[in-house]
Amino acid sequence: MRDLHVFAIGLRTRFRGITVREGVLLRGEAGWGEWSPFLEYDDATARPWLAAAREAADVGWPTPLRDRVPVNVTVPATDPERAHAIVAAGGCRTAKVKVAERGQVLADDLARVEAVRDALGPDGLVRVDANGAWDVDEAVRAIAALARAAGGLEYVEQPVASVEDLAVVRRRVSVPIAADESIRRAEDPYRVRDLEAADIAVLKVQPLGGVRACLRIAEDIGLPVVVSSAIESSIGIAAGVALAAALPELHHASGLATVQMLTGDVVAQPLLPVDGMLVVARPDVDEAALAGVAAADDRVAHWRARLVSVGQDPRT
Ligand SMILES: [Mg+2]
Repeated sequence: MRDLHVFAIGLRTRFRGITVREGVLLRGEAGWGEWSPFLEYDDATARPWLAAAREAADVGWPTPLRDRVPVNVTVPATDPERAHAIVAAGGCRTAKVKVAERGQVLADDLARVEAVRDALGPDGLVRVDANGAWDVDEAVRAIAALARAAGGLEYVEQPVASVEDLAVVRRRVSVPIAADESIRRAEDPYRVRDLEAADIAVLKVQPLGGVRACLRIAEDIGLPVVVSSAIESSIGIAAGVALAAALPELHHASGLATVQMLTGDVVAQPLLPVDGMLVVARPDVDEAALAGVAAADDRVAHWRARLVSVGQDPRT
């Protein structure tokens, strides 16, 4: 590695129980790559994430087939007024609405998707994400009610936790099913395909080992793909954009408008959507931006040790 930095960027709201997103930026012949496996991941889980970073740094990405990619605005499990405002301000034609939040009831979800539909207008697309929180019967009931309230759903993401249950729900509802949490390792998409558990596969570049690895998976499984982020800095998001730009067919908006969840970034011009689109670009790390999010010494030591542990010498 010609250059290596460790960043620690605050999250505006708690996500997966964390309030700070940490990771490593590596520079190679082709540019910058991001390695930011979550802290609890073991080495085996974190290695594909390194492959993705090395691809970005050493090889670069395939030639893009498009110069912009549509993205969705994400609506957290908030009240209808705030949901309406988020969608109206976002400029995106697709909204992903979080549902099945702990402590809330279905009526809260129905009011939220109604408000989102009102803000989007009839031509926009509404997708909902339950993060696996329902059981099969709850999912079947909720999906029918949400589809009515939303005036149609593009798809429902991970209504239930297990891939077996996903397959059962898919046979009982007419709304397309997307697998997200069911796809975390490179072999998972094939299991989703073999069980006919989903209509759409959510693919993330880092967990699956890089842009080319995702392109291979997309080709092999023969399902439409939604490219999503792992809440990365703009360096990591650029890899997701590169995947969305290189897919032979792109039918769905990508879940890559997540830089706004962070309180800082490592580039001068963060990858934020304009009119619901992200421009296909390869941003450079900006020294001034990086200085604002540089990790403390003990965290730098942690990440260097973690690199060694997955087989990456931090000096090469
Ligand atoms: Mg999801």
